[in-house]
Amino acid sequence: MMSLDFASIRAQHSLAEVVARTGLFVPPGVTDYKVCCPMPDHDDRNPSMMLHFGNDRFHCFGCGAHGDAIQWVESVYRVSVVEAIGMIESSTAFPTIVTRPIAGARDRRITGSKLKCEGPDLERTSIERVKAVLAEAWSYYGFGRLHEEGRRYLYGRRIFVDALEAEVGEPVVGHTPHGSADRLVSRLRQRGFNDDEVVDAGLARRNDRGQIIDVFRDRVMLPVKDADGDVVGFVGRYDGKHHGVPKYLNCTKTVAYEKSINLYRPSCPTLAPTARIILCEGTIDALAIAVVAASAGRSAQFAPIAGSGLAISDAQWDVIVGMHPGMIVLSADGDAPGRKANLQWSLTLAKRGREGLVAAWPEGEDPASYLAWQGDAGLASISVGLRTSEATLL
Ligand SMILES: [Zn+2]
Repeated sequence: MMSLDFASIRAQHSLAEVVARTGLFVPPGVTDYKVCCPMPDHDDRNPSMMLHFGNDRFHCFGCGAHGDAIQWVESVYRVSVVEAIGMIESSTAFPTIVTRPIAGARDRRITGSKLKCEGPDLERTSIERVKAVLAEAWSYYGFGRLHEEGRRYLYGRRIFVDALEAEVGEPVVGHTPHGSADRLVSRLRQRGFNDDEVVDAGLARRNDRGQIIDVFRDRVMLPVKDADGDVVGFVGRYDGKHHGVPKYLNCTKTVAYEKSINLYRPSCPTLAPTARIILCEGTIDALAIAVVAASAGRSAQFAPIAGSGLAISDAQWDVIVGMHPGMIVLSADGDAPGRKANLQWSLTLAKRGREGLVAAWPEGEDPASYLAWQGDAGLASISVGLRTSEATLL
């Protein structure tokens, strides 16, 4: 019978050994070493993954993946802890992993990279065709059983999308298919799309052995749309069981999508003159606000929107301030990074000659967690915040 004595497995199998068995080259004798992150969900262009052989830990500054030798195998191969231990203890070789080469490195071996991974080509496929791929993918993610699965995930977080979906007349959430790692790719092939088109839409990656795999797996899917209402990309919230997998995954840059330009807007109703734009830190937060507003019949009053995280580019600010002349509410999470972001956003708004409010989310809460328990009464927190002109003085 296989042993599950973690301490003895860690003692017998160092991180250095396990990393070497995945095919990453590490020069002998180093104690700390940086490589391009090999996690399946992290398209790492700068080496962000630190390997610490002194204490057998790894940590990625890009996606947050971290852990010990066992967790390395769990995360890299997306296997359970039991399977990971089985792999470590067996004498068979691990499959070679795929990472990007480190740009400019003279000796390819030091890059730790054996295979190159192909991402979207911005010249190859037209934007119309890329949008057609994305629309087909969304009709798969957001239909039937997968739509229900996405809804179920949100129900678990007390985000009840029924009223919002009735209002917008289509699904607002979906889920990735289960089974093989190329399930979406196969479906898109059946619908007449070729592999290049799927890669160029940011939905699959190809390694140099020609294998093509879905980028989004085990994820709740939210569509990012452009001003015409066309799907241009996705945000995927991980809901699988593995450690070290990034919680949120955005599409990589494609001819249709760029995370520093596109914004997530869960609903686009006609806004009342007194409406407020609400800038959130997370897509789920923006969705939660739209959901509560729709359930309360107040969608015309609230226009929640989110970039990908706290960084909002000039192009995104142009869109945000241009959406509506009304009040802009800065609604980052109720924690230290969120407060810092609100302050930074206040200064940007001031430079653009606009005043706003800083939403009063209680310490430790984000809009989604707060509204989950407060319902539409919680929307008041959007209306009673500090004026940004006061916030910037703090
Ligand atoms: Zn990473």
